[in-house]
Amino acid sequence: MRFQPPILLSLVISLSFSSCVFRPSIDDQGKVTVRPTHKMILSLGTREFNKIKKSRQISHDPRYTDPVNRVAKRLQKAIDIPEAEWEFVVFKDNSPNAFALPGGKVGINTGLFRLADNDALLAAALGHEISHATGNHAKQRTYRMIGLVLASAILWQSLDHQDVDHAGYHAAALALAGYLIDSLPFSRKLEYESDRIGAVYMARAGYDPRQAIKLWRNMEHYHALHGGQKNELLLTHPSDQSRIRALENFMPVAMKFYAESQGKGKQHLKH
Ligand SMILES: [Zn+2]
Repeated sequence: MRFQPPILLSLVISLSFSSCVFRPSIDDQGKVTVRPTHKMILSLGTREFNKIKKSRQISHDPRYTDPVNRVAKRLQKAIDIPEAEWEFVVFKDNSPNAFALPGGKVGINTGLFRLADNDALLAAALGHEISHATGNHAKQRTYRMIGLVLASAILWQSLDHQDVDHAGYHAAALALAGYLIDSLPFSRKLEYESDRIGAVYMARAGYDPRQAIKLWRNMEHYHALHGGQKNELLLTHPSDQSRIRALENFMPVAMKFYAESQGKGKQHLKH
């Protein structure tokens, strides 16, 4: 049986990819590492954002654009992306979502305001999305996927292919196993990282980071009204409850940045 060595080999490849691909962008003290974004990625981000702006309906309703502009102004000062050409656009879309592309391009759905009906909640949502871009998460996901495909290919090559009738079934099972064992947990790891960085970003901008917990409670309520969440192990995102717990644990660190920002605010008033 030629099974053991290839499994080991694929595991080694996967693990070496996981250690070199995941580069944490925040440490235990909340220090965020900013990595410069490659020019090509920046221009891709801008091009993609322009495409989205052409294909989706933009909202100019001040009920949405006013809070977005207020929050954007403060976040831009607190988030250090030297190469950013910031742009915040509201899209007419009822799903409670937002996204950020490299280079400071941020899209916000009108539906997000159902869950984020004050500036701090909005800052929590946008801080989270922007940190996916500053943490180079898309790039990390891509490299991770390449590692997984390579490992699967090696394992696939090493299997006995006598059972031609079920070859397709075996290949699908292998791909699914890789997705469940590796890709989904990795994706959840990036989500937790974005929650922590987002909390630091909003705190630096002078918003109480405890509102990030409230945002995920609102999301939990929204999910409950819309059929609930699937089992976390099958999700690219952690369950709302898991991320609430993780954020609660991180709160003492985030609150230090909030206290600092409040101190600076008071100093401003004195001068
Ligand atoms: Zn996310």
